Amino acid sequence: MENSSPDRDKSNHKDVLRQLKSAFEKLPHDIFLYLFTSKEQESVFSQATRQVIQSFQEISSRIKYEEHDLSHELAAKWKVEISPTLLMAPDRYSIRWTGAPIGEEGRTFVESLILIGLGKSNLSDQSLKIVKKINSPRKIKVFVSPTCPYCPFQAVNAIKAAIEIPKLVSLEIIDIQCHPELAEKYNAYSVPLTFSNDVLIAQGAQPEELFIASLYTLEEQTVFIPESDAERIETELVIVGGGPAGLTAGIYGARSGLKSVVVEKGALGGQVAMTPVVENYPGFTQVGGKSLVDIMVSHALQYVQIFQGEEVIDIMPGQPMEIITSRRTFVSKAVLLATGATYRKLDVPGESRLAGRGVSYCSTCDGPLFKGKKAVMVGGGNSAVTEALHLSHMGVHVTLIHRRDALRAQEHLVGNLIENKIPILWNTEIKEIRGKERVEALLLFNNRTGETSTFQTSGVFVAIGYEPAVKLAKKIGVALTPEGYIRHDGRHRTNIPGVYSAGDVEGGYKQIVTAAAQGSEAAMTIFEDLIHPYWRNM
Ligand code: NAP
Repeated sequence: MENSSPDRDKSNHKDVLRQLKSAFEKLPHDIFLYLFTSKEQESVFSQATRQVIQSFQEISSRIKYEEHDLSHELAAKWKVEISPTLLMAPDRYSIRWTGAPIGEEGRTFVESLILIGLGKSNLSDQSLKIVKKINSPRKIKVFVSPTCPYCPFQAVNAIKAAIEIPKLVSLEIIDIQCHPELAEKYNAYSVPLTFSNDVLIAQGAQPEELFIASLYTLEEQTVFIPESDAERIETELVIVGGGPAGLTAGIYGARSGLKSVVVEKGALGGQVAMTPVVENYPGFTQVGGKSLVDIMVSHALQYVQIFQGEEVIDIMPGQPMEIITSRRTFVSKAVLLATGATYRKLDVPGESRLAGRGVSYCSTCDGPLFKGKKAVMVGGGNSAVTEALHLSHMGVHVTLIHRRDALRAQEHLVGNLIENKIPILWNTEIKEIRGKERVEALLLFNNRTGETSTFQTSGVFVAIGYEPAVKLAKKIGVALTPEGYIRHDGRHRTNIPGVYSAGDVEGGYKQIVTAAAQGSEAAMTIFEDLIHPYWRNM
């Protein structure tokens, strides 16, 4: 892998600018942006919003921008009371940004400008079918944070709906870092969080069709059944999962000559996207998890097509096999399950009820909400220690709670924890998470002394390991190990001919580098097997 250099960064930057300019040149409509700020309360968020808009104005003359004080008559006309508020094309749509489009939200901003400039929602055919059934107003609020890599998916889903039916759908994107008081009002302690007509319709980012279905029913939808025959795509290798294993398999598969696609139902990068800092991936002394994911994704995109926001629902074995997703059917010679793992829950009273109300599994996403407040991090592994350090650096008063008297995290990380004077409660188990509307206290049990106590806290971050994501594997009859991981033959072949596995779903070390290595091995095995199919001799 090449090292990054200032020259390379400059040339990448120029490439991005060129691509943006050419995308904006083709837009048929002007994009009117109205920013409302308060002269009396000029904030870093107002400055940042202004700067972001001005940089886009330099890229395209399509962007028309006016800034007004909250006392201006237009603010009264459009009922704007909070600074900063950005209205996007208010002549055509009802899209309001309460906060600043910075950090991860920059992606939402670019996509919304392009869709507004196109004057089209770009919703899929499936979503269009459902959206057409909406016949009464929907006032959407999406709570986001600039540090949340998942938020842009949900915000863009909502923008598409607001563009598709502007007469019925209005949207407000609320940045919780800029407006913690609004987050507090809605108990939005985990982002993205989506309300429609003040009803909670989604926790987390959803595939587009699920979002539209939730908007239609005003209830969170978790399964989407396509209404008509899906489109068919013929390929040779379908990789399920867009984490390090899946993306690497895509690169190796395509480079060995196999037509390969990656299908990912959520955010690309898997757990890495949620890791604040990675310090042990060769070539990078220190890199943000999300930045590393972006590099991997752009690399993979040079070789494979990635179908994101699409869930694989079923696999029909055979040669070729059929892979049925929430949007279409792939016909393929092989499938690689690189579905990773999902976070483990504490399984104590109060945990589910207060999820998103102070209980969180993503410190990068939700940490900023607890700045200046008390929070605990539960766990004793690398994740808990890395994330406790991250919270502490953000200004959260964090205490680590661990059930034993020794941490299993790497020595280097433990050293950092001690250096940063992060308090640790040893031999301590959480028996209950208490709070009415949101987390207020924990019931703790010291397993050495047998004592119980209560601990006041606003947040509980849980990082106690992962469970393999084997729902699909189980459904199609892939054999598992006694620990619940996918069983394979050492060369990533499962018990079903043509079905392979790689990465955290196989168990083992669960490092980014090992997942990537397993992805490459699996792709090479698949390539060899497709030339000399072992199942013909079975
Ligand atoms: P992990 O290594 O499995 O550690 C889980 C921790 O949670 C353990 O300390 C465990 O306690 C505790 N735990 C498990 N169930 C619990 C429960 N019900 N209640 C309370 N505590 C519980 O998980 P991880 O830290 O998420 O890491 C997962 C994998 O990713 C590991 O292989 C890790 O090395 C890797 N990773 C690496 C890095 C890095 O290299 N920088 C960063 C993050 C993750 P016990 O110790 O008592 O079992």
